Amino acid sequence: MLKDIVKKLEPSSTLRINEISNKLESDGKKIYKFGFGQSPFEVPDDVVDELKNNAYQNKYLPMQGLSELRTAISKYSNTKSSQNYKSENIIIGPGTKELMFLLQLLFDGDILLPTPSWVSYAPQALLSRNKTHWITTTSENNWFPTAEEIEKIILKDKQKNYLLFLNSPNNPSGQICDNLKEISSIAKKYNILILSDEIYSELSFNENFKSISQFYPEKTIISTGLSKWCGAGGWRLGYFIIPEALKELRNSLKILASETFSSVSAPIQYAAIAAYSNNHNEYISNSCSILKSVGEYVYKNLKSNKININKPQGGFYLMPEFSIKKFSTAEEMCNNILEKTGVALLPGSDFGFSEERMIVRLSFTDFNGREFMNYIKKNNISNINSISKFAPKIVEGTKRLKHWVESL
Ligand code: GLU
Repeated sequence: MLKDIVKKLEPSSTLRINEISNKLESDGKKIYKFGFGQSPFEVPDDVVDELKNNAYQNKYLPMQGLSELRTAISKYSNTKSSQNYKSENIIIGPGTKELMFLLQLLFDGDILLPTPSWVSYAPQALLSRNKTHWITTTSENNWFPTAEEIEKIILKDKQKNYLLFLNSPNNPSGQICDNLKEISSIAKKYNILILSDEIYSELSFNENFKSISQFYPEKTIISTGLSKWCGAGGWRLGYFIIPEALKELRNSLKILASETFSSVSAPIQYAAIAAYSNNHNEYISNSCSILKSVGEYVYKNLKSNKININKPQGGFYLMPEFSIKKFSTAEEMCNNILEKTGVALLPGSDFGFSEERMIVRLSFTDFNGREFMNYIKKNNISNINSISKFAPKIVEGTKRLKHWVESL
């Protein structure tokens, strides 16, 4: 009685590795949880207080999201970008994953995914019966597509509509896209719709993050939310900013929202007003400096003639590529690593790479963010000693991975 299309799907690999790692740990194994990617930090106190204060909010909220929250988000976004988004441009969802799924459901055309892309874009395309085209990328180009690579696909059928997913800072590569202008001109040329997944934008290490909406505002949908910068993945609050030029799409999305999740949990939406209205600059800059140091620690310790990695530029991830021949698939290699070292990783094949490519995603978030953050607040430094003290599992997991490679 199941649809064939559903039978083709496996549980989302990110959530699956989280559950596998937790189970192994509760069975008494020592696991280095480098598989799942969630913020190691706590939600800022003022935002938690607002959630407590609003626990009594029991009414359904507007299907597009609470008006005060959308106003707070539009103000926040306008200070970060050169755009003038209004509250009407914003639609609140239970995490951006659901909004992205609804977008794929309403979109009539093909999906362009850079290799690598986050794990759920392709399964959502399959469920929405959209054809997916994977775009080749290289480590030299930060794992982002060039205009020629995008054009090569479009030229095969110029009549179709295309929706390009662009995610910077990137999950899984940890890289920031620096050829946005080039990508936007090809997008303009072929009238491509862009979903700019900016969920890690606050966690950019060198302030070099730019949104493609600066170059192509008319057809760019910005997708972001609380999960990463505010340590609130489990709160499930994300939003889209949809420009005026895509008003029709916005209305359709609102209809799909009303027919699926109705509206996002009321207390969470009220609490999110504080997240976007109060000043969290210090919290964000401390988060960035910790993540940058931890990411660079892993990068420096793993990079070798057997492991190629790009230096992390933002977010939580590194994407090492192993030049070893022992395994036939990256998944087999990840299983071996987990068994021999206790380090949980995800294979690159979950992100669009061919199975034979020995690429993995490594999430460097297995540490107690609260303790590290408190230390940084007082000491204003983040060096190697503080990494071994506050992120011991990162240090040990990295060491084990390094020994595993060397012993092959
Ligand atoms: N984005 C996170 C990850 O890639 C987890 C959230 C999810 O996949 O739903 O690990």
